[in-house]
Amino acid sequence: MRLLVTKFGGTSVGSAAAIRALATITAQNRAAWDGVVVVVSALSGVTDSLLRIVRTAQSGDAVGVHELYTALRLRHDSTIDELLTTERAAVRKDVDGLLDECAKLCEGVRVLGELTLRTLDAITGLGERMSARIVAATLREHGIAASAYDATDLIVTDDRYQDASPLMPETIERTTGLLGPVLAAGSTPVITGFIGATLAGVKTTLGRGGSDWSAAILGAALEASEVWIYTDVDGVLTADPRTVPDARVIPTLSYNEVSELAYFGAKVLHPKTIRPVVERGIALRVKNTFNPTHSGTLIVQQTERIVGAIKAVTSVHSLSLITVMGRGMLGVPGIAARTFAAIARQNASILMISQASSEQSICCVIPAGTTANVVASLRQELAAELERRDIDTISVDDNVAIITAVGAGMRGTSGVAKRVFGVVGDAEINVIAIAQGSSECAISLVVSEADARAAVRAIHTLTHTETISAHHRAPCE
Ligand code: ADP
Ligand code: ASP
Ligand code: MG
Repeated sequence: MRLLVTKFGGTSVGSAAAIRALATITAQNRAAWDGVVVVVSALSGVTDSLLRIVRTAQSGDAVGVHELYTALRLRHDSTIDELLTTERAAVRKDVDGLLDECAKLCEGVRVLGELTLRTLDAITGLGERMSARIVAATLREHGIAASAYDATDLIVTDDRYQDASPLMPETIERTTGLLGPVLAAGSTPVITGFIGATLAGVKTTLGRGGSDWSAAILGAALEASEVWIYTDVDGVLTADPRTVPDARVIPTLSYNEVSELAYFGAKVLHPKTIRPVVERGIALRVKNTFNPTHSGTLIVQQTERIVGAIKAVTSVHSLSLITVMGRGMLGVPGIAARTFAAIARQNASILMISQASSEQSICCVIPAGTTANVVASLRQELAAELERRDIDTISVDDNVAIITAVGAGMRGTSGVAKRVFGVVGDAEINVIAIAQGSSECAISLVVSEADARAAVRAIHTLTHTETISAHHRAPCE
């Protein structure tokens, strides 16, 4: 069976008009494919609203909870009223039931003044459970055989609440067992993105923006031919369109390139989306719900080389650069390991590492929120070296951003770094640190937050989307 898994993000289900567009697209996809699966996010802004309600409940503010809850109910009710006629009452009842669940959980949080990650997952996952029911009913009212499923019955995860990962063998078993017959009967399952459940059935979420990952997990479990991520832009662009308004669509990217882009801040695709599909060679496409005839961006194993080698530029913000420096570090084994272990103990993720041996320093970039704890942990771990002056300083540069230029053709193309530093230098931007991964698919620069936009725009002038002439043509990963 040639199966297509489609995922529609928050804006793609954010209004009645968007959900109607989803229905038209799904009817067309069903005509072209043997089977179609639809994965949905919550209506745009709903996950944020649920988080706000929980926090308000935790602060004990019953009136605030009521106001936010009422707004959420109105938003869903008006969408249902605009979309549905025959199924209106039934879907309203379902959605009301889920909102009641939200109210009960929030009341518990308010009374206890305590919020566990497990409760947080149960509440924040409600948005997808509501949207899946609304979307499935809309498809049926458009004459499309469809039914809603909660991924809590399909995606089995570990119990890292807020950041759960799938257990693939169990997920494959549940998914094929439950959805196989549905697809064979020609029906389209509409599945909640973002959520799963542990083996014991406790609800979990896969992390913010995780619905893309849900689609990839389900695509892998069902051995889909392709996974298409429908969003609100024409595909993966040469830069974030909010920073660079004239950013262009990139027709093809390799899994490696898109991994770097996603990891270094291109919100269009959750970074964990790539692994389940790359392992199985499933093609991934990013498309626009509001311009569905555009072919979007195709992500495959290998793409053709492009002119100039740089395909896109991204940025990650709100970071700190930590530098451990000292002459006594030279040649002393184990300092790097202890530095990273001390950082890991604070659960801080390191986005980038660079070591300059001539200056005898190690620097790494971490999210700003974790800086104070990380520095305290480093001072403790390296206390003896600081005392002996083997290490002179542990310094912090707050308010930095990482700017990353991506393109697989960098490998084997000389002078790419020179051009990147050239345009950044011409823009009079000071580069604080640099790193190039061994994949040679990306060059990252650390600059101060104040220079970040200008750096993105400067490097964007170097991006190309056209492939180089046939006689040079060689595929790249
Ligand atoms: P969805 O709700 O469909 O998952 P997201 O808001 O998560 O959508 O991701 C799409 C958004 O990502 C776009 O609207 C765009 O503003 C942003 N974005 C950032 N970088 C890029 C990029 N390089 N290409 C495309 N979109 C990008
Ligand atoms: N609704 C979830 C979020 O806002 C998941 C997603 O949209 O991908 O994070
Ligand atoms: Mg998203």
